[in-house]
Formats: sequence, structure tokens, C-alpha cells
Amino acid sequence: MKICTVIGARPQFIKSAPLSRALKQAAGVSEVIIHTGQHFDANMSDVFFEELDMPVPRYNLGISGLSHGAMTGQMLEKLEAVFQEEKPDWVVLFGDTNSTIAGGLAAAKMHIRVAHVEAGLRSFNRRMPEEVNRILTDHCSDLLFTPTTTATENLKNEGVPSDKVFQVGDVMQDAAELFGEIADQKSQIALDIQLEKGGFILATVHRQENTDDPERLEAIFEGLGEVARDIPVLLPLHPRTSSRIEAAGMHISPDIKIIEPVGFLDMIALERKSALVVTDSGGVQKEAYFQRVPCVTLRDETEWTELIDTGWNCLCPPVSGQVIAEMVRARIGTVGEDLALYGTGNVSQRIVEQIVAAQ
Ligand code: UDP
Repeated sequence: MKICTVIGARPQFIKSAPLSRALKQAAGVSEVIIHTGQHFDANMSDVFFEELDMPVPRYNLGISGLSHGAMTGQMLEKLEAVFQEEKPDWVVLFGDTNSTIAGGLAAAKMHIRVAHVEAGLRSFNRRMPEEVNRILTDHCSDLLFTPTTTATENLKNEGVPSDKVFQVGDVMQDAAELFGEIADQKSQIALDIQLEKGGFILATVHRQENTDDPERLEAIFEGLGEVARDIPVLLPLHPRTSSRIEAAGMHISPDIKIIEPVGFLDMIALERKSALVVTDSGGVQKEAYFQRVPCVTLRDETEWTELIDTGWNCLCPPVSGQVIAEMVRARIGTVGEDLALYGTGNVSQRIVEQIVAAQ
């Protein structure tokens, strides 16, 4: 059985790493990795392939830096050509990026079966490009692997037949477990930048609704700057955020420690050592929980509602710096309920078993 996996953005490299390992161990299964090129910098792409010991992609489509329509259109065209060449039995997709929807559409129209990992997530905010991508991908998939009961319910409410849906848990938990121990041994970053366990806040900001809205972006950096006067704030800066800050000529408090994006091992190590995580990332919200660190999410809503319900996370729409600073200070030291929110592990293995069984 031949499987083409389509990846293109940082979170997809991380989600696909444990799945590639499981595919390698499955008898009679071969994987062809297609990298669309959406993220291409050394620290947004190459580092993950090296650190996570991922197979080298057979194709790199080199598509990046375009508008949503142009990017998705080019991906669609080039993926179709690759699928024609490779003739896979299955196309496996992850999450909610333009690479995901392009892979889903190209494959479905060629009658190639599609498996979607991290299916069923909804923010119910159609202005998010990710929401459009995930809804459309789910509806052209043959196998939908959901991480949570909420995600499974969302699909049911949209009329997706239940025999296509498998609630396997969260593949990012596999990644956190698989690479967490290696991170403990290898990551030096906290030592290098002299941060003590529990003595700093880790922040990430990259979502379009924040980076492309000057008022929200200002409020976020004002809030983080305010907090950084009392406790160190470390911010590995996403290239999109960096370019928006530069374009707007925004002043950033020198108290915030801004660094380049880090590799996954350093990121897990930092999450583990931080007192609190402040983020607008989907993945980082969950990783904070995997490390049992509280989180403040700089968004109006989240797809990972169980983290809010169990007290690990809280939403803080970034409307004012002062509100953000107050919320962050109030949440340090809080803990939520200790439940297995994202399944019991071995998610990649379960996904591979289902794909093989559906042959
Ligand atoms: N991440 C990383 N280095 C960083 C920032 C994030 O390795 O400097 C990882 C993080 O641990 C998580 C993933 O990137 O696994 C999340 O990706 P991102 O925030 O870009 O996207 P989202 O999860 O919001 O789709």
C-alpha cells in the first residue's frame, strides 16, 4: 500500500513525525512525503526534519509567500501532478493549512482516498482561514481521525457518517511523549539563556487575526511588555509576526526577550520549564497542558474547549494590554483537573491500523 502524506507548515512536520515512524513499522506500507514548501526557512522547516529524524520528502513543491488563493491554487495543480505520478492508495493530511485543503481537493477529485488527521476541530469562526480549510477537508475525507469527543460531535452535527470517524486521540501527544525525553537530554536552551524552571513566561504569536490587526498586535505586545517588568517573557518570534511588526514600525518593549523560532526539542524544553504559556497557537495550547503548565490564549475562541472547561487554559481576547497583563499575572500558579483529555497515547499506531484495515 502506498501512502502520500502532504505537509507544508511547522505544526504538520511535528504531527507527521510520529506517524511516519508508525508507517515505517507497518508491513507492506510505503510512505511518500510531499512538502508543499509553505514553510521553508531553516528554523521553520529543516530543523524539524533533522531533529525529529523524519524521512526526507520525495517532493518539495516550493510554494510559499503567496495570497491564500494563489497558494492553494498552485498547490492543487502541483499535487495533482504528483498524485498522477505516484498513484497512491491513500493521501494523508494534517490539520488545517492551505496544504491540507489543497491535498484534500486534489486527491478527492482523482478518486484517491483521503485520511484527515486532527479532523472535526471547529472554532465556529468562518473568518479564520484555518476554519474554512478544516471544514472542507473533513467533507472530502474518507477517514477522519478526531482527537477529542468534541471534535467527534462536531462531525456528527455536520452529518459526516459515523463509520468514517475514528476518535483516536491527539497525535501531538505522541510527538510530545516521543520527543520529550530526547528534549530533556539534548536541549540546552534554558541554560544558554539563563532561565530557571518556573521562572519565566513563554509566549508565541502568529495567528493572522492577531498579526494582521494592528490594534490587537499592539495590545499583545503592550501586555507582554507590562508583564516582562516583573517576570522574564521569552518570545520565539514567528516570521509572519516579525514582518508585520517591522512593516508597522511598532515599538517593542526591550524587556521582552525576543528570539528566532526554536526547534521542537527546545520548544518542548521551554514549555516544560515555563511558569505559564501565553499563545495564540493551537498546538502550543495543548503542549502547555501536556506539560501541565497553565496557559492564556490570546484569541476570542478556541477549538480546544476541553482545556478551558478543565481550568488549564483561559481565553483572553487581545483587546487591551492591561487586560492581558492582569490575566497573565492571575493565572500563574493555577492548575486544572488532571484528566486524559487527548486519549491514552499510541495515536499514530491506531491511525495506521485503521488505514491498513480500510484497504
Ligand atoms: N513550535 C516550535 N518552535 C517555535 C514555536 C512553536 O517548534 O518557535 C512548535 C510548537 O511546539 C508546536 C507547533 O510548533 O508543536 C505549533 O505550531 P504553530 O504555533 O506554528 O501552529 P498551530 O499549532 O497554531 O497550527
